[in-house]
Amino acid sequence: MVAQVIDGKAFAAKVRAQVADQVAKLKEEHGITPGLAVVLVGEDPASQVYVRSKGKMTVEVGMNSYEHKLDADTSEEDLLALIDKLNNDPAVNGILVQLPLPKHLNEDLVINSIDPAKDVDGFHISNVGLLGTGQKSMVPCTPLGCLMMLRDHHGSLSGMDAVVIGRSNIVGKPMAQLLLGDSCTVTIAHSRTKDLPEVVRRADIVVAAVGRPEMVPGDWIKEGATVIDVGINRIERDGKNKLVGDVDYASAAERAGAITPVPGGVGPMTIACLLANTLTAACRANGLAEPEGLTA
Ligand code: NDP
Repeated sequence: MVAQVIDGKAFAAKVRAQVADQVAKLKEEHGITPGLAVVLVGEDPASQVYVRSKGKMTVEVGMNSYEHKLDADTSEEDLLALIDKLNNDPAVNGILVQLPLPKHLNEDLVINSIDPAKDVDGFHISNVGLLGTGQKSMVPCTPLGCLMMLRDHHGSLSGMDAVVIGRSNIVGKPMAQLLLGDSCTVTIAHSRTKDLPEVVRRADIVVAAVGRPEMVPGDWIKEGATVIDVGINRIERDGKNKLVGDVDYASAAERAGAITPVPGGVGPMTIACLLANTLTAACRANGLAEPEGLTA
């Protein structure tokens, strides 16, 4: 079997176009322009790149982008004061604090000071609890993007065996909750899992979110399974820098029914879902119906 490639880049462009349509409608019918505030503390080069591209795409879909760049030695008090101001600003529907934060800042405290209704990353403890209890919440962007691609490919996921490799708070755990919400039978695997190859071989859906280059070989994949590769790993091969996932793409594509590539799979969906979450937050804040197909 040669796997169908799930084109995350094209899918993300479709999601952004849907968001842009809905934003245009919000403006025309209700005079509302959703706004996303991104807070960056310090000068981490990778974070600067992410923040720039988030700002650019926010503007491209017709929303307002507010960038707040703070010095690396900003005090916790000043950061919390800025978040409080954004929480109380009606023009701001979504707040994202770019992680990681400099070491002197308490990440949990900072994230939990964001108004949960504006927590477009879905990391606030209230949103984690709401997702875990199957209630309406803000859903973390990367797992939401994976879920959208899976629903698009399969229609219903009900009754499927899903294995999520990785149990982080930002990917593995919320991914497992979302799959459970769609009635999959879910296994969460991690570094202490016994016989990982056998666990993965049972799965109709494999989501790999580990951070280890190409650790899942094709012979772990059940014939016809759907493979979602969240991993982004920079490696050097043949003297060149290369991005690879957590799955060995070439061998897995020979057995899988469908697979996301790296790059061009899950990655582009993350920002698209951030924009979708900001739109959802703006609709909720104004008591309007949520856009269809853009939430969990
Ligand atoms: P974390 O490092 O927080 O979590 C990694 C998880 O993998 C842990 O639960 C760990 O288990 C597990 N793990 C580590 N080694 C093994 C192993 N040998 N076998 C099985 N499980 C193992 O990573 P994140 O969840 O933040 O990210 C995972 C990957 O996804 C990274 O490559 C990251 O760059 C990428 N990513 C991509 C995004 C995108 O937009 N595409 C967004 C976010 C992340 P344990 O808990 O036991 O230590």
